[in-house]
Amino acid sequence: MRALITGGAGFIGSHLCDRLLQEGWEVVCVDNFITGSRSNLAPLVGQRSFRLLEQDVTRFLEVREPLEAVLHLASPASPKDFSRIPIQILKAGALGTHNALGLAKAKGAKFLLASTSEVYGDAREHPQRETYWGWVNPIGVRGVYDESKRFAEALTMAYHRNHGLDTRIARIFNTYGPRMRVDDGRAIPNFFTQALAGSDLTVYGQGQQTRSFCYVDDLVEGLWRLLRSDVHEPVNLGNPEEITIGELAERIRGLAGSRSGIVHREAPPDDPGRRCPDIARAQRLLGWRPRVSLQEGLERTLAYFRPAVASG
Ligand code: NAD
Ligand code: UDP
Repeated sequence: MRALITGGAGFIGSHLCDRLLQEGWEVVCVDNFITGSRSNLAPLVGQRSFRLLEQDVTRFLEVREPLEAVLHLASPASPKDFSRIPIQILKAGALGTHNALGLAKAKGAKFLLASTSEVYGDAREHPQRETYWGWVNPIGVRGVYDESKRFAEALTMAYHRNHGLDTRIARIFNTYGPRMRVDDGRAIPNFFTQALAGSDLTVYGQGQQTRSFCYVDDLVEGLWRLLRSDVHEPVNLGNPEEITIGELAERIRGLAGSRSGIVHREAPPDDPGRRCPDIARAQRLLGWRPRVSLQEGLERTLAYFRPAVASG
C-alpha cells in the first residue's frame, strides 16, 4: 500500500507519515515547506519506503507511482498566517484540493481531506455537531482559511457524488503536540515559548473564549481509523475537554514552572467564542475517542518545547 500525503512536512502531516510507515505503508510526501520543516522529516529521509517531493500542491501534481490513498493536509493553519499569506491559504484549499482530488481520481485512490472545526466559524451551536452549517464571515481576515476549507469540503463531496471517488472528510479541532513550530503563533506554542523564555504570556481578549485541545497521537489514530472506514460524510476529530484560554495560559505557566506574567492583547477579529467537538459520530462509526488528557498531553509537549526554546 502506498499513500501520498500533502503537507507531510508539517506538524500533523509528519506524525501521519510516521504512522503510515509504522503500519507498513510506503509514503510519498509532497510539501513546499511554506510552514513545514525539513527537521520533521529528518528521520524518514533515506528510508526506502519514503519519498519526498518538494512541490507546491497548487500546481499540477505529477506522481509516477501507483497510489492507494491521497491524504490532503497541505495548508497553512495558524491564525498568524491568515493575514500574512492569505492568498496561499485560499489557493491551497481551492487549487491544491482540486489537484489532490484529480490525482486520487487518476490513481483510483481513496482521498482524505484534512478539514477543520473552522468550517463552523464562530459557532452558534455548542458543542458543534457535523450537522451544523456554521457561522462564518466570508470577507473577514479569518475567512480565507474558513472559506478555503468549506470550498474544499464542497469539492470533495462533488468528486464523491459525480466521480464516485472514495472520499473522507476529517473536521479536525485544535490539535497540539511535539513538532509545532516555536514561532507557529497558535496558543499552545506561544504560551510554552513565552513561559519558557520568561516573557509575558499573551492572552487575546479577556481569555474567556474556549477551545478543546486534542493531543496529536489521538488525532492521528482518528485519521487512520477514518481512512480505513467507509464513512463519506464529515467526521469531527477532537478532544471534548474544553478549557478557557485564560485557564490554559495559567496551566502552561504552572507546568513550565515559570514566573512570567499574563498580559491581555486585543482579540483577533471573528475569534470564535466557544469551541468544543461533539464526537458522537466518530465514537459510533470509528470506535474512536481521545485517550490522552490535556494534562498528560501538555506534559509531553513541554518535554518537546523545553529544548526547542532553549536552542532558539
Ligand atoms: P502545518 O503548517 O504544520 O502543516 C501544513 C503543511 O502544509 C506544511 O508542511 C506546509 O509547508 C504545507 N503546505 C502548505 N501549503 C502548501 C502548498 N501549497 N504546497 C505544498 N505544501 C504546502 O499545520 P498543521 O497544524 O500540521 O495542519 C495540517 C492540516 O491540518 C492543515 O490542512 C490544517 O488546516 C489542518 N488542521 C489542523 C489543525 C490543528 O490544530 N493543527 C486543526 C484543524 C485543521
Ligand atoms: N490566543 C491567545 N494568545 C496567543 C495565541 C492565541 O490568547 O498568544 C487565543 C486566540 O485568540 C484563540 C485561542 O487562543 O482564542 C486559540 O487560538 P489558536 O491560534 O491556537 O487557534 P484557533 O483555534 O483560534 O484557530
